[in-house]
Amino acid sequence: MEALKGINLIENKSIAIIGGGPGGLTLARLLQLKGANVKVYERDENRHIRLQGATLDLHFESGLKAIETAGLLNAFKENYRPDNDKYRVVDQNGIIFHDDHLKESTGDFGDEWFRPEIDRGPLRDILLDSLEPETVVWDSHIVSVENIENGWQIVFQNGNIANADIVIGADGANSKIRPFVTPIKPVYSGVTYLVGNIENSEKNTPQINSLLKGGKISAMADSKTLFLSAKGDGSLDFYIGWKTDENWAAKSGIDFKNAKQVQTWFKEEFKNWSNIWQELFKENETTFVPRPLYGMPSDQNWETQSNITLLGDAAHLLPPNGEGVNAAMLDALELSENLTNGKFLNLKEAIADYEKEMFERFVKEEKVTEDFLDFMYSPKGLEIMVEMFHELPN
Ligand SMILES: Cc1cc2nc3c(=O)[nH]c(=O)nc-3n(C[C@H](O)[C@H](O)[C@H](O)COP(=O)(O)OP(=O)(O)OC[C@H]3O[C@@H](n4cnc5c(N)ncnc54)[C@H](O)[C@@H]3O)c2cc1C
Repeated sequence: MEALKGINLIENKSIAIIGGGPGGLTLARLLQLKGANVKVYERDENRHIRLQGATLDLHFESGLKAIETAGLLNAFKENYRPDNDKYRVVDQNGIIFHDDHLKESTGDFGDEWFRPEIDRGPLRDILLDSLEPETVVWDSHIVSVENIENGWQIVFQNGNIANADIVIGADGANSKIRPFVTPIKPVYSGVTYLVGNIENSEKNTPQINSLLKGGKISAMADSKTLFLSAKGDGSLDFYIGWKTDENWAAKSGIDFKNAKQVQTWFKEEFKNWSNIWQELFKENETTFVPRPLYGMPSDQNWETQSNITLLGDAAHLLPPNGEGVNAAMLDALELSENLTNGKFLNLKEAIADYEKEMFERFVKEEKVTEDFLDFMYSPKGLEIMVEMFHELPN
């Protein structure tokens, strides 16, 4: 049996990665370094679409490890945002309970607690620029795949089709590939975010901007949260979080394009919160997006197939916990290694081992996230958060 090992499982195989998020692009890069024939099918029309979402911190043992293995650490160092990782934890009045600005960042990529921040756009650019030309097929909204002899036919919304020997679903929370791997669906966490972005925060939200100081804020009180982060383009991202009904957005009757209507709701729902937060509703151009938070059940499992699997949110969506991008990139690293390291007899074994490790990581992460949501949305949320920061090594 041992003699059979060392075989190249992806030789002469075409690999279709569905979704060009951080997980899918990292996988494409890592596989191309091993000579694989890879295409990434991405729904976005082109690479210049502005990416929503706050900055991300990459972690030593996952996101940064994948970046380093992908040979992209120098590009990352040129694009990360020093000091953007500095957190302030405040109460509903903006009183500071924990302040990272009081300490020096180590800036040391060898320090496992150093978690450098990068905007989603530059991270995507680094990964895209590392790929061979024409790897990403833009404007490719996949609606389905069909199992054909020894492979897959990929069906696009525009009627096009493509073929591949192996399909990897990296298409995020509402994956179209997931149903071909498992019928298990995400469940609502009980918490909803109202997400927004404000251009030029220095001008439009001056009080919040000076409290933010180019970093991040977690404001907590009354079993509610407000997360804010400064982005490289001078804008400010924010997530208002609270426990509510899964269908709150539809039932609320709010027009989320109308900042005044959202403000009226905020004043009522967050009634003990200071007026400084009202700056978030001044700009009528701000579009608010309600995002009920979902997660996969911790006991999810499925039978491995030999030519299709999932990674990132498509595989193990969880409510935001600061790990999502890192987990997706670590999946990409582990999957690419299993497919190319010559340790497995066949694709099914390689994928089975990857999925086993991925499930084990997910079970741990799911527990941490559940505990996290429990305390964040409890009356003692602020107190527990501050304690946690004080327990971290300096
Ligand atoms: C409000 C919020 C805040 C978050 N904050 C953080 C954070 O601070 N740190 C962190 O690590 N994580 C955070 N996350 C989680 C993080 O965004 C995800 O875990 C991460 O992006 C998952 O990466 P992915 O590559 O698996 O999927 P995604 O990033 O979702 O990428 C999927 C890609 O697939 C494409 N796609 C989707 N459907 C199709 C289709 N049908 N056909 C073709 N292409 C398709 C999409 O356009 C996208 O490019 C947050 C999530 C949310 C909702």
